[in-house]
Amino acid sequence: MPTYDRKGECNRCGDCCKPRFFHVDEEARSFYLENGLPENGQCQFLVSIDGIWTCTIHDRRPPFCAAFPWHPDQMEGLDRCSYVFEVVEEGQPR
Ligand code: SF4
Ligand code: SF4
Repeated sequence: MPTYDRKGECNRCGDCCKPRFFHVDEEARSFYLENGLPENGQCQFLVSIDGIWTCTIHDRRPPFCAAFPWHPDQMEGLDRCSYVFEVVEEGQPR
């Protein structure tokens, strides 16, 4: 099974906090259901301030939010995400 190394930085496009992110995994799904997912499916803690998407609970956001994306499969459809994944060959330093 390949190991991946994530490169890049978040550009705050906000797309991973929108409906698609809700389907990332069961932990994320539970978080949203417990916190009351709004009708538009977008995280209720995501707001646009002066045109920049901002998490209003950034310092206490759930661990899967802080770690996202942690696997290249999660990048599907997130065309604006600025992270990229590189395959790490066995025995190659990370
Ligand atoms: S809690 Fe913050 S980082 Fe997590 S999905 Fe909501 S807005 Fe995004
Ligand atoms: S999709 Fe990627 S670049 Fe956009 S807010 Fe999420 S982690 Fe950041």
